[in-house]
Amino acid sequence: MDLNYTAAQRAFRTEVREWLRATVPANKFGSYDTREGFEQHRRWEATLAEAGFSSVTWPKELGGRGCDLIEWLIFEEEYSAADAPFRVNQNGILLLGPTIMEFGTEQQKARFLPRMARCDDMWAQGWSEPNAGSDMAAISSRAIREGDHYVINGQKTWSTRALFANWLFGLFRSDPQSSRHHGLSYLLVPLDAKGITIRPIKALNGKQAFAEVFFDDVRVPLENRLGDEGQGWHVAMATAGFERGLLLRSPARFQRTAQKLVALYRKHRASADRDPSIREAVVRAWMGAEAYNLSSFHTVSRLRHGAKVGAESSTNKIFWSELDLEMHETAMRILGARAEYLPGAPDAEAAEWLEGFLFAQAGPIYAGSNEIQRNIIAERMLGLPKG
Ligand SMILES: Cc1cc2nc3c(=O)[nH]c(=O)nc-3n(C[C@H](O)[C@H](O)[C@H](O)COP(=O)(O)OP(=O)(O)OC[C@H]3O[C@@H](n4cnc5c(N)ncnc54)[C@H](O)[C@@H]3O)c2cc1C
Repeated sequence: MDLNYTAAQRAFRTEVREWLRATVPANKFGSYDTREGFEQHRRWEATLAEAGFSSVTWPKELGGRGCDLIEWLIFEEEYSAADAPFRVNQNGILLLGPTIMEFGTEQQKARFLPRMARCDDMWAQGWSEPNAGSDMAAISSRAIREGDHYVINGQKTWSTRALFANWLFGLFRSDPQSSRHHGLSYLLVPLDAKGITIRPIKALNGKQAFAEVFFDDVRVPLENRLGDEGQGWHVAMATAGFERGLLLRSPARFQRTAQKLVALYRKHRASADRDPSIREAVVRAWMGAEAYNLSSFHTVSRLRHGAKVGAESSTNKIFWSELDLEMHETAMRILGARAEYLPGAPDAEAAEWLEGFLFAQAGPIYAGSNEIQRNIIAERMLGLPKG
């Protein structure tokens, strides 16, 4: 095993680093959970796309760089080290894009992928419903076929940034007699279609991070179905696999947080050292981020030798979400009362940690709750009986 980067990989790192140094905006954007901030982030990602950096693992002809996963890890390291803006096109680039590549017709690929890569279209995810969260097979929103259209009625909820996106991908019950995983179809729905109402939901930080989407006789042409009619569950599981698997949360993101945590600890060492368990937590966080990084390289190396990411993506998801929580909780402990500063307070650093702390609470819930991931590990990895 050769643990050194190749000359080509080192050259790629230099190219990315120099491009980011020259291009990352000096001023912070507004929150991506506001219309104006979202648009700033979208434009930034379109700039990334012009250099093929919005979707580095996508094929070149579709607007990507054709990178392998090692190069992706390198790109992510440089991106996090440059403190470059959060990317708001992940639903498209990481989830729907690969699903279209696998299940889409040639027409669908040509119609949706280049616009997605350029950030001309921004996608929201429409799985959850008021009575179908963890138990997604309980979906009741219907898409009934009428001639060359589906007519959709029902409701989706918790749809991240659906307020600002212009398309939604989601699962709908196309066979009204069916139940559970059967009779569902995967549809691509323009959010400006007649009959759609989008209502914001406030997140813990008070921002309009999610939305409820109501469908009232919304007509969607048959060619907007991804995969076969009634096979939506199978297609959606591929999307969910991409979400929980390697790409959603790169190790570099947590290594960067760990570095910042160490810097925070050093800055406030005099007060933090009054409680030795804080120092231990900082060290544990740093080791956790390094361990996640090594484990990701291990996974990539296995994938390069033909393995597939299976149920172990659930262990990944639990690990990074709990690590993120622990890192932010430790920062809160270091900051003490200062942790309660709101954005706009003189200590901007503290406000950023608070924002991260609030978002970290969601990690064990989104992309499939950690309890559900533990069920998957128990049943599919450990072979334990169904609970
Ligand atoms: C930040 C964030 C972004 C999101 N973005 C989107 C989005 O863009 N699109 C979208 O469709 N959804 C989105 N969601 C919704 C998310 O997918 C759901 O919240 C999640 O699947 C859990 O469903 P629920 O909220 O209905 O909780 P429930 O399913 O009602 O679960 C409640 C609790 O019971 C536990 N539980 C449930 N079933 C079991 C079981 N069988 N065994 C053990 N424990 C169980 C759960 O773990 C949880 O703790 C988002 C959520 C968050 C927090």
